[in-house]
Amino acid sequence: MLDIHCDDCGRVLIGPGRILSVTAVAEGLRVAYVCPCGRHGSEITGRRRRRARAARPLLTTTA
Ligand SMILES: [Zn+2]
Repeated sequence: MLDIHCDDCGRVLIGPGRILSVTAVAEGLRVAYVCPCGRHGSEITGRRRRRARAARPLLTTTA
């Protein structure tokens, strides 16, 4: 589950099926998602971990 903020819905909890991709960025993880209302967006989430963990394979799913 991921806590996101949709411009239309406000704070929304979404499940793994709504996550399009997870990309490691300098700030943490950028998660691209589709809100239940259909709006696409992305959030930076998670705290940056040790460098060894930052190199882990990325999760990619299809909606
Ligand atoms: Zn929404």
